[in-house]
Amino acid sequence: MPDDVHHDVLVVGGGNAGISLAARLLRDGASDVALVEPQDVHRYRPLLNYVGAGEAGMSSLEKPMADVIPDGCTWIQDSVVAVDPLAATVSTRDGRTLHWSTLVLGPGMVEDWDATPGLHEAYDDGWAGSTFVPDSAPQVWESLKSVRSGSVVFTVPPEPSPCGATALKPLFMACDHWQRGGMLSDLTVHLVTPFEGVLDMGSADERLASVLSSYGVQVLTGARVTQVDGAARSVTVDAASGTHTLAELTYAHVVPHYRAPSWIADSGLAIDAPSGLVDIDPETLRHRRHDSIWGLGDGAAIATRSSGGALRKQVEVLAHNIAAAATGDQLHRYDGYTVMPITTSHRRLMLLEVDRDGEPKPSAPLVDLTKPRRSTWLFDRYALPVIYYRRLLRGKV
Ligand SMILES: Cc1cc2nc3c(=O)[nH]c(=O)nc-3n(C[C@H](O)[C@H](O)[C@H](O)COP(=O)(O)OP(=O)(O)OC[C@H]3O[C@@H](n4cnc5c(N)ncnc54)[C@H](O)[C@@H]3O)c2cc1C
Repeated sequence: MPDDVHHDVLVVGGGNAGISLAARLLRDGASDVALVEPQDVHRYRPLLNYVGAGEAGMSSLEKPMADVIPDGCTWIQDSVVAVDPLAATVSTRDGRTLHWSTLVLGPGMVEDWDATPGLHEAYDDGWAGSTFVPDSAPQVWESLKSVRSGSVVFTVPPEPSPCGATALKPLFMACDHWQRGGMLSDLTVHLVTPFEGVLDMGSADERLASVLSSYGVQVLTGARVTQVDGAARSVTVDAASGTHTLAELTYAHVVPHYRAPSWIADSGLAIDAPSGLVDIDPETLRHRRHDSIWGLGDGAAIATRSSGGALRKQVEVLAHNIAAAATGDQLHRYDGYTVMPITTSHRRLMLLEVDRDGEPKPSAPLVDLTKPRRSTWLFDRYALPVIYYRRLLRGKV
């Protein structure tokens, strides 16, 4: 039976953003928090890249949604289809009308398959794929480990993207595998990156460029894939150096482009850009035109590169600001902190932590975590998933 109910705080999206925020608000004493999320399964998405390197299975990153919804939170298993900011209501696919005092939008992004003609069909054929698409991730390693010669392409997606820099992880782990197996010299490996450098991350770019060069990777910068032809096994790339066709590819690890779900723009809540992200003040995380609406995570215009690590800070700021807005206290500001963990080989990882201006923001200032280390790899692969489920999703940020 469809509901027509009111909640003090209504959170849309049960990803890293929505679950962590709901848990944090409840820990801070909120009594009526409801969360709209249609999926049965919650994923710790950073491990998808390890699935794509044969270092993890899907079962290691998935949990039933019911197990991660915080105690005391009302789960409405449904999808939002529209928001009416003036009436302060949300409409859902199953016909509910939900009223709120405070609305938090954390719907993440969706793949923009239309942006790359031919890509979806190539995924269906299995010739293209990526760790970023959960249905495809388990096939990535099967495909990459069987490559012994020919050409392969990897891409970093254009912004906005869900921690797109980590698309370098499957590239480097595969190159290490091919190098150790003696196959790398028979392979041509391409990287397509939208940035002028590798990631446009200052001195970290020099380190990344030298790792790419050590594996002999040919890099196209200022570049994005504009078309994929599965029958011809080719990928068309618009790059700073002109248009290129990478032909006769054995495998194409092409990450889709991303945008926010279209109901955000249709509800008049988006920035004026094709990505359609929720139009928030990136520091206070409050909607620019509607004071009772807030946003965080991948689907919001946070003006920094999205990541789960960034959510640690956003959740803290937003939980404070929702309470402060009610009492008239000063709002806190999110500095755009974000993190990009990048494996440089099968067992080494460098950690880039920056603020909104790209300035280094190390969480452990005495150690240079941008230097590839085995200990950082072990932390990223084994410790962080445990911390995620035991602490971050429980609002202990
Ligand atoms: C392959 C990959 C690797 C990554 N690696 C890292 C990493 O190493 N480190 C790191 O810090 N970050 C990493 N990230 C990024 C990190 O996973 C994201 O930043 C984070 O998951 C964002 O959380 P979110 O809740 O904003 O979005 P999402 O995780 O996308 O969650 C959004 C939720 O909203 C729900 N939703 C969507 N539409 C609706 C609707 N209409 N109604 C109700 N609910 C809806 C969805 O079902 C989903 O559950 C990675 C991401 C990917 C894809």
